[in-house]
Amino acid sequence: MKVFFNGRIVNSDSPTIKALDRGMTFGDGLYEVIKVVNGKFPFIKDHVGRLEKSSKFFKIKFEYNLDKIEAIAQELSSINKIESGELFLEITRGADTIRDHIFEKEYAPTFLEVVQPLRRIDANLWQTGAKLVTYPDMRHGLCEHKTIDLLPNVLAKNYAHSKGGYEALMFRTKNGEKYVTEGGSSSYIFFDGEKIVAPKIDNILPSITRSKVLSIARSMGFEVIERRVWLDEVQRMKEVMLLSTVSKVMPVVKIDDMNFSFGSVTKKLMTAFEEMISS
Ligand code: PLP
Repeated sequence: MKVFFNGRIVNSDSPTIKALDRGMTFGDGLYEVIKVVNGKFPFIKDHVGRLEKSSKFFKIKFEYNLDKIEAIAQELSSINKIESGELFLEITRGADTIRDHIFEKEYAPTFLEVVQPLRRIDANLWQTGAKLVTYPDMRHGLCEHKTIDLLPNVLAKNYAHSKGGYEALMFRTKNGEKYVTEGGSSSYIFFDGEKIVAPKIDNILPSITRSKVLSIARSMGFEVIERRVWLDEVQRMKEVMLLSTVSKVMPVVKIDDMNFSFGSVTKKLMTAFEEMISS
């Protein structure tokens, strides 16, 4: 497969990365995943905007812009003959001359762009619903940024998979009470029978799918409440939805031993979101 790496299109197995790249040595970088649908990149502007905002926050030089990133993505999807799949962007601070936590003054950032087929997701899950497994959220305090240091997310998702689940439902604890944060690579929203309830953006990723789905829900007339969601109250929720760029809107029918139905609100939001990304 061909990828775009630091200004050139190269084979994905070319040895191009510098050994002391801070992405390798410190996980010092950011990434984005954007859906590829019929040669188009839904919400690419939002994704690049999020990347740019975080790169400013971490003072990582951002040398690309939306037009350039989209043009490269189009070129890669045509070279690799991928009409539908995923676009992956990664930017790291760049390579050190000696490994040191302290930043040097100037870096040439490392930039990678990949268009690949959609990862393997069992298509039945959109009909039958997914199972989640609860797992403690062991991450840092900068989870509103899409940083590449994903080991706790990887552990969470692998734990869920080892228990037969599709995703983890991560929780943090405050004064002995557990509250829902997000998944290893997904957001969650709930329907409590009257309103849509979404864990508020408080040290979780401002998911682009979540923001689109909540705006669809509002436009359909649903009341949307963004607040802390306690794990104890989840069992009273009528419907649970998993949201992400690659999973889109996916019904959740089980969290540990709790069962949920794939109800009409989830169906409506799934249909409307599907229309939005394919229009
Ligand atoms: N939360 C986490 C931790 C993620 O990694 C992701 C996506 O990878 C999401 C939520 C969903 O975000 P988006 O809708 O922007 O893909």
